[in-house]
Amino acid sequence: MILESLVVGLFQENCYVFGDEESGTGVIIDPGDEATRIALAVEQTGLEIEKILLTHAHIDHIGAVAELAQEYACPVLIHPEAEPMLRQAPAQAVMMGIRFGKAPEVDGYMQEGEPVEVGNLSLDPLYTPGHAPGHLSLYCADEGLVFAGDALFAGSIGRTDLPGGDHQTLLASIREKLLALPDETRVYPGHGPSTTIGDERRSNPFLAGGAAF
Ligand SMILES: [Zn+2]
Repeated sequence: MILESLVVGLFQENCYVFGDEESGTGVIIDPGDEATRIALAVEQTGLEIEKILLTHAHIDHIGAVAELAQEYACPVLIHPEAEPMLRQAPAQAVMMGIRFGKAPEVDGYMQEGEPVEVGNLSLDPLYTPGHAPGHLSLYCADEGLVFAGDALFAGSIGRTDLPGGDHQTLLASIREKLLALPDETRVYPGHGPSTTIGDERRSNPFLAGGAAF
């Protein structure tokens, strides 16, 4: 496995370059900004990028999608329920006082139960809404890791005050989909450091004792 992470943009978002060393094929997960830096990181891995995968459509996760999709002539995949927000990205950005170019095109969908192949590895999309509509986490059982987007962070969980957010839905997503993974599963979130499912199960204050906030 090859895994590179980069912190990009104003919102310090984690973009991941993930690939299969044997076949030399890879994907970019959540290219939020700084396309040139991401492309340089890709070059250093030697991976051939086959797909761009998006956990959700918040602008801090998608700012470099259009540019990189063009660079690698590769499809952009997202959950169907996240697509409307992706289309609204330029308007979202303006409201936040940020410039955003063209909204990226969606070329295909990811759904739970339909694994995404990355060379000889595979990513299982886990449907984890609550932070944003159609939010997915991407689980690689082969390597024991999950890209959790903005559902679960080290010591925290995603915010639910943005359009389409819902706290109870997020808690249910985390409990039913993420905490169902083995304790040793490494969690690569959309912001901040990586963690493990076991550590979050034991010490994440938002998940403690079944309390609902
Ligand atoms: Zn988000």
